[in-house]
Amino acid sequence: MTAPMPLLAVEALTKHFPSGTRDKPVRALDGVTFTVRRGETFGLVGESGCGKSTCARTIIRLYQPTDGRIRLDGTDITSLSQRQLRPFRRRMQMIFQDPYASLNARMTVRDIVAEPLAVHESALPKAEVTERVELALSQVGLSREHLLRYAHEFSGGQRQRIGIARALILHPELILCDEPISALDVSIQAQIVNLLRQLQEDLDLTYVFIAHDLSMVRYMADRVGVMYLGQLVEVADAPALYSHPLHPYTQGLLASVPVPDPAADLVARPPAIEGDVPSPIDPPSGCRFRTRCPLARPICGEASPALTDTGDGHEVACHLYGGPGQSPDHPSTTTTSDHQNHLGGNPT
Ligand code: SF4
Repeated sequence: MTAPMPLLAVEALTKHFPSGTRDKPVRALDGVTFTVRRGETFGLVGESGCGKSTCARTIIRLYQPTDGRIRLDGTDITSLSQRQLRPFRRRMQMIFQDPYASLNARMTVRDIVAEPLAVHESALPKAEVTERVELALSQVGLSREHLLRYAHEFSGGQRQRIGIARALILHPELILCDEPISALDVSIQAQIVNLLRQLQEDLDLTYVFIAHDLSMVRYMADRVGVMYLGQLVEVADAPALYSHPLHPYTQGLLASVPVPDPAADLVARPPAIEGDVPSPIDPPSGCRFRTRCPLARPICGEASPALTDTGDGHEVACHLYGGPGQSPDHPSTTTTSDHQNHLGGNPT
């Protein structure tokens, strides 16, 4: 039986920006490939500057890709003109990170939420526009009383609800959520995440959920892609990724998540990642993670590891792993001792 066509397929997606100071471009996104199945949440995680947001903005064509392909429901939308793109753009919407900056302070809530209708359904009668806006507001827990108020009159959580209502008004299938909770107070984050989950269930939505908070992605995502310096280094079902991370970067990221009992944790987990992310203008040769990887070996500087399926759809880009099945030197788990031995330290 053939697998159903993914709603979104991203193939070797690349986005370079002029660096301004040198001939070399900023390699914000370099050959990223993944698919998103209809109805699922695909989480994208990684440190700041790893290319997550650039990936979302390139998918939705806010940025023109430098190379690669974007397919929405099987149709290649990579090179469509803005006019050709219009019917596809209404099927995918975006929720932005900063609800303070993404809402126009001079517009009423009604006009902010109705804005996409003015572009995509400009012939809609005014009364119907208001009806659609009221419906979208009710879906996010706001009411018609909020229609004529301005964004500055709302809290951060309410502003993000307005942003979500604006994303919903065209009845999209795919929503790219670009760190939708990171600018909010912790107490509000759970409300917004629960709202997104409820909307997904009610409206059959598909999400790409971008975050640097691994615990929130674990709660939201069915599958997770881990990005480092413009590339995907690991993709897996969320339970597999969190219980059995393969890539040393993923292992380090997970080790950075605070736990209630740090003393017990020292024995069980590898050390957190040290050092800074290298410049995307001049990334390391071979594996881009090699300058921070405690398991790096000579081959890591010579060849870039391809994202390879190690079985059950768990993909990893690392020379420690072979293709289907595992290479002889595959470390089925990497322990604190492995890292410390490599670094010359003594396990405590
Ligand atoms: Fe580390 Fe080498 Fe794997 Fe890169 S390829 S993550 S440097 S072991």
